[in-house]
Amino acid sequence: MSVEAAKQVLKKYFGYDEFRGAQEKVIEGILDKDDTLAIMPTGAGKSICYQIPALLLQGVTIVISPLISLMKDQVDSLKALGIEAAYINSSLNNLEINETLHNARQGIYKLIYVAPERLESESFCESLNNLHISMVAVDEAHCVSQWGHDFRPSYTRITSFINSLEHRPIVSAFTATATEVVRNDILNLLALQNPQIFITGFDRKNLSFTVIKGENKDKFIYDYLESNKGKIGIIYTSTRREAEGIYNKLNLKGYKAGVYHAGLSDKERKRVQDDFSFDNIDIIVATNAFGMGIDKSNVRFVIHYNIPKNMEAYYQEAGRAGRDGEESECILLFSPQDIQTQKYFIDEGYLPQDRKNYEYNKLRAMVDYCYTSKCLRAYILEYFGEKDVREKCNNCSNCNDDREEKDITIEAQKIFSCVYRMKERFGTNMIADVLKGSKNKKVLTLGLDELSTYGIMKEFSQKNIVALINKLIADDYLLTTDDMYPVVKLKPKSFNVLKGKESVFMKVTKVKKVVNEDNTLLNILKDLRKEISQEEGIPPFMIFHDSTLKELSQYMPRDKESLLRIKGIGERKAEVYGEKFIDAITKYAKENNIEIKNEIVDDKTSILPKENKIKTHILTYNLYKEGKGIEEIAKERDLSKTTIEEHLFKCLTEGMDINVDNFIKKEYEEIIVDAIKSVGGNKLKPIKEALPDQVDYTSIKFVWYKYKSQKISNSNSLTS
Ligand code: ADP
Repeated sequence: MSVEAAKQVLKKYFGYDEFRGAQEKVIEGILDKDDTLAIMPTGAGKSICYQIPALLLQGVTIVISPLISLMKDQVDSLKALGIEAAYINSSLNNLEINETLHNARQGIYKLIYVAPERLESESFCESLNNLHISMVAVDEAHCVSQWGHDFRPSYTRITSFINSLEHRPIVSAFTATATEVVRNDILNLLALQNPQIFITGFDRKNLSFTVIKGENKDKFIYDYLESNKGKIGIIYTSTRREAEGIYNKLNLKGYKAGVYHAGLSDKERKRVQDDFSFDNIDIIVATNAFGMGIDKSNVRFVIHYNIPKNMEAYYQEAGRAGRDGEESECILLFSPQDIQTQKYFIDEGYLPQDRKNYEYNKLRAMVDYCYTSKCLRAYILEYFGEKDVREKCNNCSNCNDDREEKDITIEAQKIFSCVYRMKERFGTNMIADVLKGSKNKKVLTLGLDELSTYGIMKEFSQKNIVALINKLIADDYLLTTDDMYPVVKLKPKSFNVLKGKESVFMKVTKVKKVVNEDNTLLNILKDLRKEISQEEGIPPFMIFHDSTLKELSQYMPRDKESLLRIKGIGERKAEVYGEKFIDAITKYAKENNIEIKNEIVDDKTSILPKENKIKTHILTYNLYKEGKGIEEIAKERDLSKTTIEEHLFKCLTEGMDINVDNFIKKEYEEIIVDAIKSVGGNKLKPIKEALPDQVDYTSIKFVWYKYKSQKISNSNSLTS
């Protein structure tokens, strides 16, 4: 079977033109009947990798999926695309299961999602044997490994189920978890036969990463939410108490929030999850009990109120942001007390000692992430074993932190020499105690107050010294042993600093603010999507993803043919929702005086039929109306700043709504208008010469075009 056929299915059902990343290769392998292991990051589009072969192969694909809510979402999404699918799990009664199996025997479904626990029933496995199973696709395949973070014992049943089938189907396995132990476990425990293995890069380019330390976490959250109103996000906490606390405060402040943790009843959790899916609430405050069931694509931020237990958990939770490929933020709020909470969880757990040490070690890597001053993305990618990682991503709080760096070489030298004098036998807190000059009983009994480094950092708080030590650990000057009470030791890199050959620097970070506008076409389309979602009882993101709405608002298609060229709109969705969206776009265009037809101008618009191409300056205008600045628009459209400025001038000439105050200094407008009046408005040069030097051409042009358009509209109104 050809990749061409797969591409047609991609377009027809899913509305996408191209495969992303490894998708094509994975699908090609499966269509060649190869067993497959695909390790791809969250949001890379794993589902399509088995859904498209499922549609093309003879028979039915059984998808083993770990969470009930996820199954329902997947099946609902497939049905919305016009694909027959079903699920079998404990939410169905026997009658319903039998009916589903009966339909399956009639060949109605192309995909059946099955909970792994079902495979524990022999009679159930036998009933599946009656079907023509083309493939068994194992989603979240890391659940088979005890070393993974979501071990599910019933996953170990999958292989005996496959072996019990008369004809061995293709077996494909998918996960976002990359460590080598887990990978080997998947290969062995699922008994994949000569599998094709795909390990794609772990980078999620649309996510930005931020670590905030030493700030009031609650205040940070309120400020953040205030400047990001209406955005959808998750706030993760370590404990139920914290989740409840934040949730209550957000509620009092009038945010549309919900809370989710293991202490709530199933019914309450389901209600909150549904509210979140349906955009009835914007923010969910949750412990890590919330997550695997979430494939909501338009989560714009994930804030961690505390550190999670390890980088795997962090990347998985943070990775719930931006599954639709749109820019999203992952922010981690860190305070050193959080380490104690996580240590306590490990210590109280029922793991054998060597496993506990393994967990302490992983926790340390998580803490290092908070203290490192290198690129956070590079840190993550290297942690997951990627090679040749770029040193700077320019999209994390470390790369983008433009404040001056503070030289902390002296403090570092003091710390290193103290570690040395304490014979590398103590942990972070004791070292800080000695540097602070603490009268702590243990310090005195051990005679550590006799050391020459005792009290040499007394002007710092104990907390600050601990933070400095942690930063030096994260940046590889110091190491800690991996056990419950880790001991700090010097690494070779620290000797360069002690000898004065290398300096050490440190920074702190801030949040960027985002402007939101209410009356954009994008928001109008979002409201329409919400309306339809309520009418139909399916979550908004199953109707259209944010990225689809964004393209709709930019390209403004006005007929079904052009609609089909928008990313994420396949035949069925164009049929069912097309008219409503076209009506909304047409209305907006009329109200805003936007003429769409008969112009060819922009490369990107070649995706639309000729008669429906949009003027390039209108595309710019739409982005401007979304609150974007010239630079941002230029970047997004891959055009120069001057071109974008020209577009805006054209919009002004056409009388479109542009506030020139967004682009020039307020005090300039008046003097420019005066200059135009005095030297005449025909040429720019004399105007420039009549003005002080610092008034630049761009400002003059903005005012000039505005002035001209006003004159035109004034004279029109005079003549009419
Ligand atoms: P994963 O399971 O890897 O986390 P999903 O299968 O949920 O990712 O897909 C993430 C998002 O990417 C979905 O919204 C999906 O529709 C979208 N997507 C998948 N493949 C493509 C593609 N080829 N082009 C555009 N979007 C895609």
